[in-house]
Amino acid sequence: MSTERVPFIAGNWKMNLDHQQAIALVQKLAWTLSDANHDYSKTEVAVFPPFTDLRTVQTLIDAEKFQIGLGAQDMSQHDSGAYTGDISGSFLKKLDVKYVILGHSERRVYHHEDDELIQAKVAAAFKHDLVPVICVGETLEQLEQFGQSAIPVAQLKKAITGHSQVGEFIIAYEPVWAIGTGQVATPEQAAEVAKSLREAISEVLSEDIAQRVRILYGGSVKSSNVAGFLKNPEVDGVLVGGASLQVEEFAGISRFLKHLTL
Ligand code: PEP
Repeated sequence: MSTERVPFIAGNWKMNLDHQQAIALVQKLAWTLSDANHDYSKTEVAVFPPFTDLRTVQTLIDAEKFQIGLGAQDMSQHDSGAYTGDISGSFLKKLDVKYVILGHSERRVYHHEDDELIQAKVAAAFKHDLVPVICVGETLEQLEQFGQSAIPVAQLKKAITGHSQVGEFIIAYEPVWAIGTGQVATPEQAAEVAKSLREAISEVLSEDIAQRVRILYGGSVKSSNVAGFLKNPEVDGVLVGGASLQVEEFAGISRFLKHLTL
């Protein structure tokens, strides 16, 4: 973590937890962090539940004045119309959703989302004043063929190029071979790719934007390995899948500063 950027801890629930289970998890998470005197101004924490949970979680966060941030896992590139099953950025904005994950590898694989579509979704997120968490990462075959940074950098460049308006955005470097596999990138690998991604932002947009963008690592993060990633000034947080469904574990990850000696 750097001293300039506030670390971001994001919990991607994927297709887990219905809206009733969501209430239980968010309440318990907020209470656990509150008991530990968690300082949200020093480490931001956000959850990314399924669409059907968003209204419930937003109402809970609002009513209880929890400081946990709220994000969605995807959105349409369109504003409205005949797109059965899709969700508009304007609907998310109305629910006080702040963040939206775009280009997650599971959407790239199972829904055949390509770089062009992700670029259009990023444009829609900026238009609706949402903060996209743009996911990039290489498969094992790509790692062997092109090395570590080439694919994530190419995906990122496409996602952030050609926009008439650019708002805040976050990048999540998630090597596909590390997602849900228990196989983790080393902190050095994550930092090296994060550095290349920051250089790419500087090249495409500006050095000022590059210095402000938070770059996360994702892939089998746990409370026992999170500090290693955040120790490096290039890595500004983590995107957590499986471990975000266990309150104690996710709270432990959110409290990584406790284990960090800078
Ligand atoms: C993810 O889905 O973004 C992710 C990183 O999953 P996991 O932490 O389970 O590897």
